Amino acid sequence: MQTPLYPAVSDLVLIGGGHTHALVLRRFAMTPLPGLRITLINPGPVAAYSGMLPGHVAGHYARDEMMIDLLRLGRGAGARVVLDRVTGIDRAAQEIHFASGRAALGYDLASIDIGITTDLPGLPGFEQHTVPAKPLDAFLQAWDGFVARRLAEPKIVVLGAGVGGLELAFAAGQRLRAAGARPQITVLCRSDQALPGVSPAARRKLLQEAEAQGIQLRYGAGAVAAEPGAFLLEDGTRAAGDLLLVVTSARAQPWLAGVGLDLLDGFIKVAPSLQSSDPLIFAVGDCAHLTQTPRPKAGVFAVRQAPVLGANLRAVLSGKGRLQSYRPQKHYLKLISLGAKRAMADRTGLAAGGAWIWRWKDRIDRRFMAMFEDMEMPAMAQALPGTFVPGLEDLLSGRPLCGGCGAKIGPEGLSALARSLPKPTRADVLAGPGDDAAQLATAPGGTVQVISTDHLRALCLDEAQMATIAAVHALGDIWAMGAEPQAALAQIVLPQMGERLQGRTLAAIMAAANRVFAAAGADIVGGHSTLGAELTIGFTVTGLVRQPLTKGGARSGDVLILTKPLGTGTVLAAEMAGSKLPGLIMGEIVAAALASMSRPLASDAAILAPHAHAMTDVTGFGLVGHLLEMLEASGTSAEISLAALPLLPGAEALAGQGQASSLASANRAAALGRLKAPQGPRTDLLFDPQTGGGLLAAVPPGEAEGCIAALQSKGIMAAEIGRITAGPPGVVAR
Ligand SMILES: Cc1cc2nc3c(=O)[nH]c(=O)nc-3n(C[C@H](O)[C@H](O)[C@H](O)COP(=O)(O)OP(=O)(O)OC[C@H]3O[C@@H](n4cnc5c(N)ncnc54)[C@H](O)[C@@H]3O)c2cc1C
Repeated sequence: MQTPLYPAVSDLVLIGGGHTHALVLRRFAMTPLPGLRITLINPGPVAAYSGMLPGHVAGHYARDEMMIDLLRLGRGAGARVVLDRVTGIDRAAQEIHFASGRAALGYDLASIDIGITTDLPGLPGFEQHTVPAKPLDAFLQAWDGFVARRLAEPKIVVLGAGVGGLELAFAAGQRLRAAGARPQITVLCRSDQALPGVSPAARRKLLQEAEAQGIQLRYGAGAVAAEPGAFLLEDGTRAAGDLLLVVTSARAQPWLAGVGLDLLDGFIKVAPSLQSSDPLIFAVGDCAHLTQTPRPKAGVFAVRQAPVLGANLRAVLSGKGRLQSYRPQKHYLKLISLGAKRAMADRTGLAAGGAWIWRWKDRIDRRFMAMFEDMEMPAMAQALPGTFVPGLEDLLSGRPLCGGCGAKIGPEGLSALARSLPKPTRADVLAGPGDDAAQLATAPGGTVQVISTDHLRALCLDEAQMATIAAVHALGDIWAMGAEPQAALAQIVLPQMGERLQGRTLAAIMAAANRVFAAAGADIVGGHSTLGAELTIGFTVTGLVRQPLTKGGARSGDVLILTKPLGTGTVLAAEMAGSKLPGLIMGEIVAAALASMSRPLASDAAILAPHAHAMTDVTGFGLVGHLLEMLEASGTSAEISLAALPLLPGAEALAGQGQASSLASANRAAALGRLKAPQGPRTDLLFDPQTGGGLLAAVPPGEAEGCIAALQSKGIMAAEIGRITAGPPGVVAR
């Protein structure tokens, strides 16, 4: 992971990967602000570009064409990307809270761009029976699922007759007709006039278009409940559909009400500077209300706010420059898709439609998305430029980073670390952190204490995610021996940063690690931390076991079970190389790899250990390296099926492109003469070093099926990948 050129002294947190924040991040990628650490928080690794949404629903754009890859963007900007949903902000503590329960994240300056929701919590049956248009990711999943049902005469009811509702109705009709279906689409309008906010000429044309496409509009049709397959309307009648879409007016996210900012109908009131009532919190896009120049919710405003937000964040953080004002245009061009590759333009009462407007809109939208593809990486300037966050020059001024204990972390950071560690919970941990050394009771007679250590250089900038992965990775050795995790010591190297950020970073690392160790039944009993060249997190872990399960003991006929998909090394190498895969989004592939690395192996071990003759965890030597260790220790050989290998999404295609971790060639060389396998990407993945990899167990044949069923019932992607055979240590892969 590339270490930032300058140490960070201030935290900017961007909440939500909406259009404005994506553009602001891009600006910071092109022109970094030295001394700044940027964090982007978004529930998923991608954000949908709304301009292309109707075109995607209609089938004109593939999913990857309309998704902004936030992980890639974050990497370009050197930003931490936290994949989580924000549920609150404690302004007094300057901390952000998360849905997942991960530790609160500190900020010096924050900006909110989380869009709106179209949910109707007051409508009985809404949650169970309808699909809201926002959030877009969930909507798209539901839409894809509906298309896949391939109904011959699908019925769709759209609740909400605004531009969004009509556009979706046109797009849905187009997609279903192109698939050979005969869709029946009804749009419900509560009042007696559809399409508020468009000019009378555009309204007339859009309604004519709806009629021509066989879309039925029902006026005075407010819904009072959603039932399985129908909206119940105010007049007691029902509007029946196989898909009930909700595209009603925007609602603000409810958690904003608890932040204590000035709001209007739940939306954050902002000044022309885009600052909320708290000068440390900006708000943009649909979630903001422009107090002096109110405007409807539309992507065009979110996009146009980006230069002003970028400049103002930079001004506040650097202490240089005046705040700019955002002045939205009064009239803006609405480009409305009509389903087939036609669109209508509406501006200042003039409405025109046709294929050429679609082509025009298509060019605008593709140009927008191309901005995130052609991102230039920051210039690697060596000298401190004119604008930077105050405090950075002190940190850099003639004080090179010392080695040895001189590189230890400042007292603020260390006291935060001590505070963040809970008291030991285990009876055999007599004393945890605080004294010179922790105290562990002697293991009772017959119990063996196992100990192992591991550390990882950062593979992502979100240190909480990194700590989770490092903890899971270190515990892998303990679980592989069938042992119960007992105690852990942390070793942490932080890149040089200001003391305030050290405290925040250490607290985040320890909170995340503690979640993993506490869930595994172990206590963190101490650790050591220094400043160094790059973020590195490691743990020494002990465990207790009556009869350690070793790599030796595998018998001919045993079934080989692997409990995690392969490919982490390849995916991470490909991400660093900036690889792309047609039809797929790298950010989603990387997010799936990070999630797999973060999954603890406690359940895997609990299910496999009572049955396995031999077990190990698959890490740096790759599957074949660790299997060969097992075979050497057991005096056996093995056959594996390449087709049966569980693989991470995208791993095979990336290996096919020649992507590989730098360690893969050494792993291949180490297996030389002991592996027979055809050439190809699946074979390449046998050498792929795994971070936080799965368990590899040799299980008696009669017990393997039950083990796999038990693992899969826990959602574990376990697979039978081969057999132990008699013979000298070696692997045949077919
Ligand atoms: C059906 C439909 C069609 C539309 N078509 C168009 C169009 O053609 N042109 C146009 O200009 N506008 C269109 N709009 C409006 C457009 O979608 C919005 O105005 C635009 O997306 C606003 O962008 P934004 O930056 O406010 O946030 P969004 O684009 O909504 O992005 C918000 C981001 O924040 C994330 N997020 C949400 N909650 C949280 C949380 N609690 N914590 C962290 N992250 C969070 C989301 O995952 C998302 O990535 C359409 C809207 C709909 C419903």
